[in-house]
Amino acid sequence: MAIIQMPESLANMIAAGEVVERPASVVKELVENSIDANSSWIKVELKEAGIQEIKVTDNGDGISDTDCEKAFLRHATSKIKDENDLFRVHTLGFRGEALASIASVSRLTLKTSTGDKASTYLVLEGGQIKEKNISDARKGTEITVKDLFFNTPARLKYLKTLHTELGHVTDVMNRLAFSHPDIRFDVTHNGKQLFQTSGSGDLLQVIRDVYGMNVAKSMLPIKKETLDFYITGYIGKPEITRSNRNFMTIIVNGRYIKNYLLTQSIIRAYDTLLMIGRFPIAVISIEMDPYLVDFNVHPAKLEARFSKEKDLMIAIEKVIREQFQKETLIPTIRSKP
Ligand code: ADP
Ligand code: MG
Repeated sequence: MAIIQMPESLANMIAAGEVVERPASVVKELVENSIDANSSWIKVELKEAGIQEIKVTDNGDGISDTDCEKAFLRHATSKIKDENDLFRVHTLGFRGEALASIASVSRLTLKTSTGDKASTYLVLEGGQIKEKNISDARKGTEITVKDLFFNTPARLKYLKTLHTELGHVTDVMNRLAFSHPDIRFDVTHNGKQLFQTSGSGDLLQVIRDVYGMNVAKSMLPIKKETLDFYITGYIGKPEITRSNRNFMTIIVNGRYIKNYLLTQSIIRAYDTLLMIGRFPIAVISIEMDPYLVDFNVHPAKLEARFSKEKDLMIAIEKVIREQFQKETLIPTIRSKP
């Protein structure tokens, strides 16, 4: 067979395999776009765990009428323009492939307005534009994703039960809310509210809104500044634990990540305070120079590479231990009188 360069529609579908694994990945990408657009309010409405429909509405900057179609092109982004930007990413998105990927495997509707005259209404099916019109949208953006994977049956079949998929979506939304206490989130499933946050900026309030009062009451604040890191957040007292690791959230420069080694540092700090098979609840936020961390590891941007990983592991373990010592959960060793 002769070599051909793939048409964009096919390339998008292939890329979607990496970016869009399940409804939770769509929710993550859409909400991260809303966050990048300076929204102070984001509403997420799901039907059937997002398999049937995901609607994300924000009050952010909106997309100009002339840019709307471009937003669905692969590698089209307003967030970085050269290599220098790539090493100093300050937005959650930068790869310019989420909208193209999501649109290629769903029926997508966009309503958006930057606040001035022209508001846009755009309908895509499997990545192809089906309709473009003027809308009545107020400033902000509303994206509806229906029938995810309707044109990729193998992917659709691979989805788990509604219960499992909803669990993944909830996990993503919880962590996004923890990462942005200053944003008001409202999340519903089949018309029923899952949680709502106030946008007051207070992380402990978000923990209460998401995990409930009992958990929030048992959290201890942490805070530490080292040469390279500024660490803040809340850790659960050892008496409130969970049977899995999902209740530990690590946020780096406003982005939650999955990192086994850093999670192990948290667990190590608890040491004998934890029973076997039990795991702590913690939300830990770390600020560092963007030069010290690389998020461009995988398309889903859930992984990060740190140039001072060891130092960071030690700092996390230390700040938690120091807090336990303050609370006298761990006796400090005293010299003999
Ligand atoms: P990336 O986020 O990596 O730039 P995306 O494919 O997710 O790529 O989005 C493409 C572009 O569409 C963004 O760079 C942004 O300009 C625009 N965009 C997407 N969602 C929104 C939104 N909710 N509000 C404003 N602009 C948006
Ligand atoms: Mg994006």
